[in-house]
Amino acid sequence: ETTETETMSYQVPKDVVSKWSVEYVGSTPIEELIQKKIDESPEDAFYFVDLGRVVAKYKQWMENLPRAKPYYAIKCNPSTAVIKTLASFGVNFDCASQSEIQQILGCGVAPNRIIYANPCKMKSHIRYAKSMGVEMMTFDNKDELLKCAEVYPNAKLVLRIITDDSQSVCKFSTKFGAPLDVCEELIATAKDLGLNIVGISFHVGSGCMSVASFESAITNSARIFKMAENYGYKFNFLDLGGGWPGNDNESAIAFNDIAAAIRPLLDRLFPEDVKIIAEPGRYFVAESHTLAVNVFAKRAMDTGYGDRKFLYYVNDGVYQSFNCIFFDHNSPKALVFAPGDRTDLYRSTIFGPTCDSMDCIAKDILLPELEVGEWLYFKDMGAYTVAAASPFNGFQSCPTTYYIESDVL
Ligand code: PLP
Repeated sequence: ETTETETMSYQVPKDVVSKWSVEYVGSTPIEELIQKKIDESPEDAFYFVDLGRVVAKYKQWMENLPRAKPYYAIKCNPSTAVIKTLASFGVNFDCASQSEIQQILGCGVAPNRIIYANPCKMKSHIRYAKSMGVEMMTFDNKDELLKCAEVYPNAKLVLRIITDDSQSVCKFSTKFGAPLDVCEELIATAKDLGLNIVGISFHVGSGCMSVASFESAITNSARIFKMAENYGYKFNFLDLGGGWPGNDNESAIAFNDIAAAIRPLLDRLFPEDVKIIAEPGRYFVAESHTLAVNVFAKRAMDTGYGDRKFLYYVNDGVYQSFNCIFFDHNSPKALVFAPGDRTDLYRSTIFGPTCDSMDCIAKDILLPELEVGEWLYFKDMGAYTVAAASPFNGFQSCPTTYYIESDVL
């Protein structure tokens, strides 16, 4: 297994992007970089992906929670450049399907650096994992155990327990996680089937706003560790899942605060020989992406009160990156690229480019009057955006992407 000590210079490796090179930008403000691209490309939306920011997040993780080995959840943003950057630092990966596993293996990552962290899997995908040597996988119900007994009896199984996700933006406990009072029966069944459970996993929900959710999930995990001993299991693996904030300034809790609270708890409840991992997704990528969109059409409307309001049409919408409005309960903040000294503000609605009226990025927000050809930009667009984008209506699912490397401070 590659260790995180391999590359401690905190620089983006040179071979992460095949088609475009990574431009070193130091501490140049993103607005300056956007201006340069606008000058070159007068209309198309584009992304800046700052791999330096991804590395900075890795550095922050290792400084604050070194005991928990990060396994990046690629569902959050399967960018090959991000994957290769993280892989070069020894970060491992959480995959949820056959093709996610394929992608990670295709990046030259060894199968023992992957956890197949989907508690409900298709048999063919389990077979694939087995054929490729991916041993570690989660489960949370009896039928999954029966499937594993049939298809992959030697798998290293991790029991995902239910959590209190009431403090999280995206909740998972209605779909995944064994209720605590069912865990004993599952462990007994696994024992009868001769299966190898190695530990416990949980997910407090994505965008978690409470340190207490992590603390109670960790405490419950320790209880199940103990209970499993009654069945002859000596667990040595704990998976803290995702839920870590993407941007400390925008979140109710900061990463360092969660880390500071759980570090002593982990050390108290789990001896050193227990391997602890986590599956951060949003944490690594949210801040890395900045999206610039062009106002390609505009409609002025009379409010009926002697005032005007405006509809703007931009070239990325809810079928592309802004699917995060629905799937990630996000409200990306539109920033006017060159506001100048305009002080009058008008009620403004921003639509994406498709023919669907649901394709609305922001409704009735206050903006200066924009002209066709002006630009808006959105920060923190790396998590759950391009991952689920579609080419609906013939519009590009992902805008042109420029990779940059800012200084890792
Ligand atoms: N692990 C699992 C099993 C998940 O389902 C998810 C997100 O859906 C993650 C990790 C990543 O979560 P986050 O982006 O909150 O870190």
